[in-house]
Amino acid sequence: MERASDYDGGQCDPACKPLRLYYTHVYPFKALFLWLNHGVAPTSLFTKREFAMKLSNGRLIRRQFFQTVEQLQKRLCQCGATRFEIGAIYDDPPVAQSSFSAPQRLRKEFVIDIDITAYDDIRTCCTGKRICRRCWGFLAAAINVLEASLRLQFGYKSILWVFSGQRGVHCWVSDDSAIELKDAHRHAALGWLDVLKNAKGLKTSPAIRRSADLNSPLHPMIRFATSKIPCNFNQLILTTQDAFAWEDRWRCLLGKLSGGSLFQSSLAAAWEAEPERCSLDKWDDILAEAKDLPGYVSRPRRIGLQKSMEDMVLQCMYPRLDVQVSRRSEHLLKAPFCVHPDTGRICVPIDPSTVEEFNPDSVPTLTDILEEISTSQGEPGCLGR
Ligand SMILES: [Zn+2]
Repeated sequence: MERASDYDGGQCDPACKPLRLYYTHVYPFKALFLWLNHGVAPTSLFTKREFAMKLSNGRLIRRQFFQTVEQLQKRLCQCGATRFEIGAIYDDPPVAQSSFSAPQRLRKEFVIDIDITAYDDIRTCCTGKRICRRCWGFLAAAINVLEASLRLQFGYKSILWVFSGQRGVHCWVSDDSAIELKDAHRHAALGWLDVLKNAKGLKTSPAIRRSADLNSPLHPMIRFATSKIPCNFNQLILTTQDAFAWEDRWRCLLGKLSGGSLFQSSLAAAWEAEPERCSLDKWDDILAEAKDLPGYVSRPRRIGLQKSMEDMVLQCMYPRLDVQVSRRSEHLLKAPFCVHPDTGRICVPIDPSTVEEFNPDSVPTLTDILEEISTSQGEPGCLGR
């Protein structure tokens, strides 16, 4: 159970003042309420919803419930929360907010989390938590594939994509049928979407095909995704990232091509002799070799080579999901429009129709917003300046 002292640090900490101003004057609480509640009159979608708050002392206060969004706003201002998170809707929230009597039937939006760090083995511009305009393309490709799948394959309509404020994106699916999904159903949906599973790195071998027989059909989700990916591969992987410029990367590429000794040795020798050869030229080399294979190469080997090239495209580009966030409805996820505590950037929504144009470096920070408001007011006002 939370104690009054849990909030005292926030009240006294002057570092919390900008956040209080943000919660008081900027944060779109009304929009948050309408989005979560699906209507104007408060329903259990809001009143029985768990919120959690991260305090400036690092403590995470879970299991907070509010009858109105004004109460939520007041509490955030009171404790100077560095961020707040959204949890599940409980059938029977405990009055004492200390523990839940299991089992509980939970409802929750279906959520997806993708971190750019999942692409560290293929991106070349940044590592770790850093993200830039160039590696944003991985997340843009993932959003394109998943947005289409959620709408066309699952039939969902209420889909919200949000920048996480630092290194990834969150997807919230708010259709009634998504909110009612049991954990087993969420698990099954992930089984469909997360085709790569534990084989998300270049040095792994995902089960893209249903069997070792290369003529067997692709996983249906993979087949669906292939219509969204090829042009992105040329632009993002081969050009923007120049992902096979480094020797360990291009050796990995050659090693994953089926056929063994068809032409891999000769290409390796050629690329060793020309270390500055770019990834686009290397891929063209492979395409040219695959097109002009000697007549003695059997049809199965030709097909095998073609399939392995397709597999490489998919392994580089297919969405790499953080499945643990999606599988369990009790999992918390940072609320849209929160301020990321490390970067100061706002967790803004993303329009999937223009996702390629999104620039994570241009997302406003809390400081930007407060300065803009103070400047526009031109004199001491609500921001105390
Ligand atoms: Zn980058």
